[in-house]
Amino acid sequence: MLLEGLRRQVVEVGLDALERGVVHGTAGNMSIRDEESGLIAISPSGMPYAIVAPADVVIVNDRGEIIDGKRKPSSETPLHTMVMRARPDIRAIVHTHSHYSTVVSCIRPALPPLLTETCLVAGDAIPVTRYGLTGTDDFGQSVIEVLNADTRAVILKNHGLICFGRSFADALGVAEVVEEEAKVYVHALAANGGREPDLVPAALIPEMRERFLANYGQSPAKT
Ligand SMILES: [Zn+2]
Repeated sequence: MLLEGLRRQVVEVGLDALERGVVHGTAGNMSIRDEESGLIAISPSGMPYAIVAPADVVIVNDRGEIIDGKRKPSSETPLHTMVMRARPDIRAIVHTHSHYSTVVSCIRPALPPLLTETCLVAGDAIPVTRYGLTGTDDFGQSVIEVLNADTRAVILKNHGLICFGRSFADALGVAEVVEEEAKVYVHALAANGGREPDLVPAALIPEMRERFLANYGQSPAKT
């Protein structure tokens, strides 16, 4: 089976996302790119995560043409391939309909920097797209329009969330911290009479990210 390892990763990240409450039912989709061939393994369209097997995962090229697979690829394939083409550094994409991120998508042009952890992982404000018609190139274009060189997450207007990473673990981790920030934001607005809550000072975010990337975690063991 072509790219069996990557197909297996698509199955596993779906189950992982389901277990962690990041996705429900058949909503959302995931893709991962093979660095050597540039081919992309993507979730099949409309199948519950719990029953997807590696053979159900579809292999497409970066134009969305099916290279291998017996299923129809995700209806959001243009979204995935357009982002992959725009940002060669992105290897994994996780798209969810996370509840609080979707609430923010309906009421604000961006999720402001509110939690230190989200700023460390995903940087400053998370942009919200204009409304794009799901399943079309225009939907992909609405994301490209707000993407810059190191955007890790974009909130999709009246729809959900899309997160990017070097691996599925990376992209799923971003999806979790952004959803947590969106949840705190919605509650903070409610607790504050609808007024904007206090934010992380934007001027400090570049330095805190630099220190985090340089110092976080354990140094590799010295032998
Ligand atoms: Zn969706």
